[in-house]
Amino acid sequence: MPGLHADQLLLLNDLSSTTSPTEWSVRALRIAHPSLSEDEIMVMPMGTRDTLLMDIRSATFGPRLTAQQKCNACTEVFEISITAEEVGLVQGGESDTSYHQTVDTDRGRIDIRAVMVGDLIAVEHIADEKKAAQTLARRICSSEMVQIDERDMEVVTKATENLDPRADIWITANCPECGTDQHFMFDVTGYFQTEIERSAHRLMHEVAEIASVYHWSERDILAMAPARRRFYLQEATPQ
Ligand SMILES: [Zn+2]
Repeated sequence: MPGLHADQLLLLNDLSSTTSPTEWSVRALRIAHPSLSEDEIMVMPMGTRDTLLMDIRSATFGPRLTAQQKCNACTEVFEISITAEEVGLVQGGESDTSYHQTVDTDRGRIDIRAVMVGDLIAVEHIADEKKAAQTLARRICSSEMVQIDERDMEVVTKATENLDPRADIWITANCPECGTDQHFMFDVTGYFQTEIERSAHRLMHEVAEIASVYHWSERDILAMAPARRRFYLQEATPQ
């Protein structure tokens, strides 16, 4: 697939400040895959969404991504470098294509389905974390439960992890300073948003420089191939 164009990067950067992270990810998927409808994305398991987002970011910024990580033992900041393949965010990794599992709880057997994009959008505005977790669990459990106790909540959480392992990516890295192993969760949406923000700022700076000399419109400058834009930028910038 082709990577995102300059104007799409700027649009997605604008949307970062006005939409929730999950709503933003829906917009990113629709921009990169116009044939995907919003309804199709709403019923997409989270791991599928994350895999598609990683595909888009790889096509746009290259297969390898790097991040700064602060060691929780010695506080040294070190760099990690991973690819989608290394963290398992690749197509075809589905563990259970039906995304349903039956589990035993204190209230008997219940059917649990994987968390979907629409579920997260429904609960991400709930500020109280416990209340959000309860609402989410009620949405994905077949049984009509008013309040889910802690033990059942553990069963539900475990089931959702088994159903959709790609929804929960943990990275293990070794601190080069003190040698301690670090485990941290990888948030695909958050990472991609930061990467787009950096790229958008660079682009806007280029547009400002070029427009100040040639008085071309933002749209025309963004429509140029990156190599041509760099050439005009070089010409526009006093040596
Ligand atoms: Zn360390």
